[in-house]
Amino acid sequence: MSGSLPDARRVLIVGAHPDDPDFFCAGTVARWTDAGVVVRYVVVTSGDKGQPPEWDRPEGFTQVREAEQEASARLLGVEGVTFLRFTDGEVFDTLELRERLTAEIRRFRPDLLLTHDPLTRLYRQHPDHRAVGAAALAAAFPSCRLATFFPQHLAQGLRPHVVPRVLLFGTDRPDTFVDIAPVFERKLAALRLHATQVGAFPGGLETRLRRRAEEAGRPAGLALAEAFLAVDLE
Ligand SMILES: [Zn+2]
Repeated sequence: MSGSLPDARRVLIVGAHPDDPDFFCAGTVARWTDAGVVVRYVVVTSGDKGQPPEWDRPEGFTQVREAEQEASARLLGVEGVTFLRFTDGEVFDTLELRERLTAEIRRFRPDLLLTHDPLTRLYRQHPDHRAVGAAALAAAFPSCRLATFFPQHLAQGLRPHVVPRVLLFGTDRPDTFVDIAPVFERKLAALRLHATQVGAFPGGLETRLRRRAEEAGRPAGLALAEAFLAVDLE
């Protein structure tokens, strides 16, 4: 049924910056955790480039962004967040990033992975999103399933793992639509916890989120949705 929740038991969401998993998927995440699905986030950078020039709090900016991401993940019932702490704005699809993501997949063993669409033609796109999407896809296929990729993982107890399916967010070719009308307020509440970022949305956070969700749902006849491109890796 259009708008129904994609089937999964363990979901790993790989985003470039704190707030990306929530911005693109919080509604779907809330529905999954309500249904007993285990969800975990991997966030590649800690958002250091978002620091305002007037920052004068005693805590470091990235500490605050990580705490915001942890609070919003808690609100959504996410099991936990792993921060890889790459430098914001300087992420490339490197072997190092593929290795780190392969290790996270082998550790958590998801049956569904979500990440940025690296090939979207939405050109107004943060370059970190493309790089993270490309590296996460490379980790999901074929790296994590073959012991010959990063064989040092075996000594750390990280065995090969098959990820059967990926959903890409931030895509211009969506084919999978999740109805988020029942959980839209929770998505909004999760994004509001990213207090250092809320000011970055022109026209206000709620208006922006609502407009995006309306646009995402239109092709499927849904009032408010999140949209993904499904990739079968089996
Ligand atoms: Zn981002």
